[in-house]
Amino acid sequence: MSMLDVVDLEVWFDLPGGGELHAVQGVDLAVERGDRLGLVGESGCGKTTVMMAMMGLLPSNATVSGQVLLDGVDILAHGERSVRSHRWVDLAMVFQGAMNAFNPVQRIGRQIREPMELHRTASGAAARRRTNELLEMVGMPVSAADRYPHELSGGMRQRAALAMALACEPRVLFADEPTTALDVMVQAQILQQLGQLVDELGLALVLVTHDLPVVAAVCDRATVMYAGRIAEQATMDALFHDPRHPYTRLLFASTPDLYGEEPVVSIPGSPPRLDRPLTGCPFAARCPHAFDPCREQQPALATLAAGHLAACHLNTRAGVTA
Ligand code: SF4
Repeated sequence: MSMLDVVDLEVWFDLPGGGELHAVQGVDLAVERGDRLGLVGESGCGKTTVMMAMMGLLPSNATVSGQVLLDGVDILAHGERSVRSHRWVDLAMVFQGAMNAFNPVQRIGRQIREPMELHRTASGAAARRRTNELLEMVGMPVSAADRYPHELSGGMRQRAALAMALACEPRVLFADEPTTALDVMVQAQILQQLGQLVDELGLALVLVTHDLPVVAAVCDRATVMYAGRIAEQATMDALFHDPRHPYTRLLFASTPDLYGEEPVVSIPGSPPRLDRPLTGCPFAARCPHAFDPCREQQPALATLAAGHLAACHLNTRAGVTA
């Protein structure tokens, strides 16, 4: 048992015109204190949905099954109230697009204090002191507490969002594309700060991104998702040097490398529709290695080595069992 275990997580969305979309299928994750886990994949692959399901933040047309075990206790089992009691306190999140994460008509300090007051971890002068501490911790002047979100730069807003997420001393920090829309210099500073805080505070980090260089800069291991399922899971080292799923290989090949000699490739086609039943491997229509079993049977997630899993018939054909 890990500090945080996700077991067989499934998410469906009811569609307005009838029918449903199976957005997440059979996702298992294990996160320990100090871990830096990347959740990687194209837009629509289900990575943000997994995180929102763990935080209990999906809209009302979503149905979630499976377990999210914190210290072995399923926080989804007792409804919204139970999840809410863990949100910010045990599991906190830096949302994508910090401008949208803040109320535009409230000062930053007020918004950082809000989770502390809501969860009664601090109030009054203690909450103000803690707000100042948090701002300094993320590299901001304490005077930023009196600013409105629009008065801060994109990088400063992202730092303030990080301060807000850390307000109640959570054990797991989810960060959803925390550096998207920031210029590369600011991006590098924020990522460095994030890594430093994870180490200093002994947090677990789950970083959601489509950006492989960002994962490589921050994470120790990654889960690659495709069409709502796990395609591959491994340490960053194993993913870089021995990717075992064709989708992972193509993701790497489609990432520009300033100093590399290999041409950048694009992945042809689009991900499958998830509002229709899928037979076979979800990547079959785009995979350069697809063979007959790929179109008939969904590949199981097989263990290839300690901590290295992939869902591809090529590995099973080589004699690996699920
Ligand atoms: Fe490609 Fe087949 Fe592997 Fe799917 S199972 S990734 S289609 S080789």
